[in-house]
Amino acid sequence: MISEHHYFTLLYIWIVLAVVTFPVLLRITAPYGRHTKDTWGPTINNRLGWLLMEAPVVIVFSWFFFTGSATKTIPVYIFFSLFMLHYANRILIFPFRMKTKGKRMPWSIIFLAVFFNFFNGFFNGYWFGTLSPVYNISWLYDPRFIVGVILFFAGMYINVSSDNMLFDLRKGGKTGYYIPTGGLFKYVSSPNLFGEIVEWLGWAIMAWCLPGLSFALWTMANLIPRALDHHRWYHRRFENYPKERKAIIPKVL
Ligand code: NDP
Repeated sequence: MISEHHYFTLLYIWIVLAVVTFPVLLRITAPYGRHTKDTWGPTINNRLGWLLMEAPVVIVFSWFFFTGSATKTIPVYIFFSLFMLHYANRILIFPFRMKTKGKRMPWSIIFLAVFFNFFNGFFNGYWFGTLSPVYNISWLYDPRFIVGVILFFAGMYINVSSDNMLFDLRKGGKTGYYIPTGGLFKYVSSPNLFGEIVEWLGWAIMAWCLPGLSFALWTMANLIPRALDHHRWYHRRFENYPKERKAIIPKVL
């Protein structure tokens, strides 16, 4: 559909955009979840919003993956399956476990997320569907694959278990916000976001390709500023918030 040359030109632009987005997001708080505002235009039900913003990446990635003519081997099907595993949780489980009845998010956030997800799905789907060199079965024994898989599952475990701890804070019909404890919350305010970064770094390492790296960079550009916003919010909200707790990277940031 597009030549390799054009693909890489677009991909480099996409990576530069991630680098530029990072300092912008350090200044702007994305208004959803605890930071929701009604000054960003019309809003939509929170749960439906999550579905709409995350579903496109699955469709776009799958479309380009399956319609492309590249030789697909077991390692490539593993990359595909792990990507889908994450999004099965994000689309089919996470929104229905959130205890955010009646909450809303701005349509503008949905449009921005769909834009990101479209291009992320395209760059990775087109790569593995059409352009990627063949990953031989021996890739399964390569240290990059092994380290990547370990990081992916460790990150996913941290992400999902930390999200679950947050949901539990509203058990028994409670609403509002509480200081989370347990697990990696001992060290950071947003272990769920930390876990997601580790997950996509792992995915990029196991696939060892530029589009995978671009996704990991975008994840960092989105989630580090969001975690810093969450952290500042906790300190404003709770006078007794643990002083030693960092924002996202244990002992570091
Ligand atoms: P948060 O940690 O802010 O919230 C997760 C859920 O827990 C929400 O339902 C929230 O409710 C609730 N919650 C959070 N803190 C508390 C608290 N102190 N007390 C009670 N309930 C609480 O997550 P984000 O919205 O930042 O992210 C959600 C998930 O989506 C994460 O797993 C993250 O990794 C992922 N994500 C991925 C992105 C990417 O670029 N790949 C971008 C953004 C998110 P409420 O909504 O009412 O605040």
